[in-house]
Amino acid sequence: MYRSHSCGELREEHVGKAVTLAGWVQKSRDKGFVVWIDLRDRYGITQLVFDAERTAPELLEKARNLGREFVIQVKGQVIERASKNPNIPTGNIEVLVESIQLLNPSLTPPFTIENDTDGGEDLRMKFRYLDIRRNPVKENLIFRSKVAMAVRTYLSAAGFIEVETPYLIKSTPEGARDFVVPSRMNKGQFYALPQSPQTFKQLLMVGGLDKYFQIVKCFRDEDLRADRQPEFTQIDCEMAFVEQEDILNVFEGLTKHLLQEIKGISIGDFPRMTYDEAMQRYGNDKPDIRFGMEFCPLTPTGGTFGFNIFDSAELVVGISVPGCAHYTRKKIDALIDWVRRPQIGAKGMVWVKYNEDGSLSSSVNKFFDEAGLKAIAKQMEANPGDLMLILAGETHKTRTQLSALRMEMAQQLGLRDPKVFAPLWVVDFPLLELDEETGHYHAMHHPFTSPKPGQLALLDTDPGAVRANAYDLVLNGNEIGGGSIRIHDKQTQSVMFKHLGFTPEEAKAQFGFLMEAFQYGAPPHGGIAFGLDRLVAILGGQETIRDFIAFPKNNSGRDVMIDAPAPIDDEQLKELHLKWDRSTE
Ligand code: ASP
Repeated sequence: MYRSHSCGELREEHVGKAVTLAGWVQKSRDKGFVVWIDLRDRYGITQLVFDAERTAPELLEKARNLGREFVIQVKGQVIERASKNPNIPTGNIEVLVESIQLLNPSLTPPFTIENDTDGGEDLRMKFRYLDIRRNPVKENLIFRSKVAMAVRTYLSAAGFIEVETPYLIKSTPEGARDFVVPSRMNKGQFYALPQSPQTFKQLLMVGGLDKYFQIVKCFRDEDLRADRQPEFTQIDCEMAFVEQEDILNVFEGLTKHLLQEIKGISIGDFPRMTYDEAMQRYGNDKPDIRFGMEFCPLTPTGGTFGFNIFDSAELVVGISVPGCAHYTRKKIDALIDWVRRPQIGAKGMVWVKYNEDGSLSSSVNKFFDEAGLKAIAKQMEANPGDLMLILAGETHKTRTQLSALRMEMAQQLGLRDPKVFAPLWVVDFPLLELDEETGHYHAMHHPFTSPKPGQLALLDTDPGAVRANAYDLVLNGNEIGGGSIRIHDKQTQSVMFKHLGFTPEEAKAQFGFLMEAFQYGAPPHGGIAFGLDRLVAILGGQETIRDFIAFPKNNSGRDVMIDAPAPIDDEQLKELHLKWDRSTE
């Protein structure tokens, strides 16, 4: 038996007991006649004591020679501490050691294994196994396991079956590039790793499984934006014989359950908003509704604004930032610089202060008299003390810019409270989205999403206007889930592929299996997938998903611990029928 107790377990009631503990040496303090060692395992820390009066000299010497992170097993007796430590659960006791067994020595760790480590991100990732010994990382992983377990419990109780789908498949378009795997046995052919199990879960519905879920890895070869991982985990779900309403109800139920179970928070029915409304009110299809500052479009009261920048713009829209009318010129200039950064891309920004004394001042005093500014304040429903920030330009761009500014102001004002949870369903997404670069439409969600009933014909006349039975679940400004009611007949699916620019031959080559399956009694079906990494991070009140992944990749998609990706040798290349042009290295 390696241990009788864990390092987090012993209390005053154990005083007098003979125990065996095993763990890592966190640190030791040598006061000459007494040596204390903090012994750590997953469950906590127990103080070990050796002293000249009670400990044999060889043992005291042995204790002195133990370095940080040495793995040891000790036998001893639980005693009451003379000076207690109220900060840790085992703080009232210590173990007077009678024997030590060195299980494994350790090199000096490259950073301190403490809650606040001196290790930088890169070093911690390179030695992630040491990082995992630190409480914050360990606790995040335990938290993740708890969330995953709660998901499984809820969905199984609701009759869902967990089914594994293959990783070596053919491309499933979810809008990113595929990771591909060369096939040794099939010369010149490649598998693709799933961007999601989309087609398989639909086939499971054709197979009659009715309710499916899977906590599953998905792979997307995208240019990595901050906090994206090339491989990530989804809670992937599908149901047969359902309408949108059924899906929303089941997964609202799951989300409520998680909030209750994990955070102890009960939340009433989730608000819903159409995509169009979200864009108008927040300039964003995943609005953070923990705070207001909704968009107010401005229209001229008498024909024109008399201000060319506004008059020539497709959209003039602003937000009233509460309590910021006192902002200094310098602070406002910093905001103007902020919206003009290339990442945001606004040309400029108009501000109007509604001062506490009821007077108005602005950056456009030349163009607007007191009455003009009053009219703006009225349209924006501003209150004394508010700072109005207004952007003008092309509709979509201006909304996106103002949305970023709204989030920035909320951040500055501390309105994005991680302890507040504000879920929201965004529904009625457009079916197609125009790709500005190519001028072609592509599926906004994926090609298997069904248009709203009766809107199929509109695809020919006004494709951008077609709405889909597609929905996203948004939590605190993050999309945590998204799904749709699917097409389940071959005819509609063919029409959809045609509009996405596939020739019938291409559609058949890529998705023939699905179209064929649709001819064998495919039931109406729909589903959703949640991003587990992000969900866990948000529930954990943190921003970065990397902190909740045991072995994450860095921003260049590299695993710096195992040093992947890495070249493979010529022999292996040959076996895979691949040729590498070394001249490009
Ligand atoms: N496969 C979709 C996704 O990964 C989710 C769904 O439609 O169920 O976003």
